[in-house]
Amino acid sequence: MTHEAWVRLALDCGAKKATIVEKNQIVLSAAFRDICAQNGCGVYGRCWMCPPDVGDIHVLMDDLKTYTHGLWYQSIGEIEDSFDIEGMTAVGAQHARLSQKIQAAVKAAYDGDVLHLTCGGCRLCEKCAKVTDEPCRFPEKALPSLEAYGVDVYNTTKDTDLKYINGQNTVTFFGMVLFREKDNA
Ligand code: SF4
Repeated sequence: MTHEAWVRLALDCGAKKATIVEKNQIVLSAAFRDICAQNGCGVYGRCWMCPPDVGDIHVLMDDLKTYTHGLWYQSIGEIEDSFDIEGMTAVGAQHARLSQKIQAAVKAAYDGDVLHLTCGGCRLCEKCAKVTDEPCRFPEKALPSLEAYGVDVYNTTKDTDLKYINGQNTVTFFGMVLFREKDNA
């Protein structure tokens, strides 16, 4: 598929915007592991796809670097104000559903290696099995977080058409499907 076709696929699934980023545009930093450990989101240690259980950040960053390019997409949702936690949670859940839809569409269209990372972790189950120390319920569908792999979302997106902030009373979530081979013929 061409780059344009991948972008179209993401938009057709419901992404607000999407583009292709090359490997050298993806900004990584191991500092995100310390930020995750501060547990601002409350999910640290409570999801198999988030730190620390998802794996060592240096190993994960090295793995990410083996991919050549990524389909970078975003959801933008409206919230009442910057204290609207319920609204942000609802947009986050909507983004998780979008990521699953894109994952299914990518798998149907491409049989090569992909690595799909999404914003804020898996969110596939209402309560991750990690909380009760049980195995992941859907290992084929579970998606790791961008932050777990050290992706600096702000600096990765700043030179693209996808804005990090999209206006007052909005919240924005990102995701990226990484491909291992050039697929722009
Ligand atoms: S699929 Fe469910 S159990 Fe597995 S990582 Fe995601 S939320 Fe946790």
